Amino acid sequence: MPAIDRYAVFGSPINHSKSPKIHRLFAEQTAQSLSYEAQEVKAESFDEAVSAFFAAGGKGLNCTVPLKELAYRFASHKTERAERSKAINTLALQADGTILGDNTDGCGLVRDLLNNHRIMLAGKRILILGAGGATRGILGPILEEAPSELVIANRTVEKAEGLAEEFECLGSISGCGFETLSGRQFDLILNATSASLSGELPPLPEHLLADEGSCYDLAYGNEPTAFVRWGIVQGTQKSLDGLGMLVEQAAEAFFIWRGIRPQTYPVIDLLDRERKSR
Ligand code: NDP
Repeated sequence: MPAIDRYAVFGSPINHSKSPKIHRLFAEQTAQSLSYEAQEVKAESFDEAVSAFFAAGGKGLNCTVPLKELAYRFASHKTERAERSKAINTLALQADGTILGDNTDGCGLVRDLLNNHRIMLAGKRILILGAGGATRGILGPILEEAPSELVIANRTVEKAEGLAEEFECLGSISGCGFETLSGRQFDLILNATSASLSGELPPLPEHLLADEGSCYDLAYGNEPTAFVRWGIVQGTQKSLDGLGMLVEQAAEAFFIWRGIRPQTYPVIDLLDRERKSR
């Protein structure tokens, strides 16, 4: 009997990862025979752990915090979107034995916004809070949708300005600090700071969200995040968290590995119902 194809997610901490469950559900749904496990891997042992995984016959890996930049350095070749984001969350063994690196976070976010929530990006004013690794990964795919303007606001202003400069060839983009947001309005505000995880919010002025505008926190949890709660207070019908993005980026990785695109809605729905029943 042929050995089962092995996949895994590496990260630290990793024990609460939902990725093994998501990929198990995708495999069941598409009748693919594979295994997918979560493995605690710290930055200092990354190269060794990845080499050992592929040497033992592993077919593909996801890499999460704090390993995405290391995965970028490890991959023998990269997709264009991975090159732009300088971070990789998906490694795939190729037929010639080389390792392809990709970043599926940005396309996962855009798919969740467009397909699952009907939040259009073309011609819209979009604000991203935060200028870390996640922002770097989503800028390209968002700019491809041709928003009328994309603003990055960050605590460390130079990081926002630097990112804007790097991506200005792709569309209308600028960087600033939170204090210069007063008096401005956006149709979509994305929170890509890690502040939510500790229940904090960046300082945001009043009336920042336009009428009929939407809020989206890349972070997710069993309870609404601080930013999702902020969006509700602003009166939006759509104040969402990043659970859908998580499932969509996983679906794109599954497609890269298996050549089959799983349906995401049943998986998002199941995970959402499970967390609400806790
Ligand atoms: P990074 O550590 O790379 O960046 C963190 C960002 O948050 C920086 O811009 C930092 O500002 C800012 N920040 C941190 N604390 C505060 C605060 N108290 N007030 C204001 N700004 C703050 O993190 P990532 O970019 O990798 O991740 C960001 C978020 O995106 C996380 O919540 C992560 O879970 C989520 N994410 C979700 C995914 C999904 O699939 N749903 C995928 C990837 C990420 P400064 O530069 O000034 O330090």
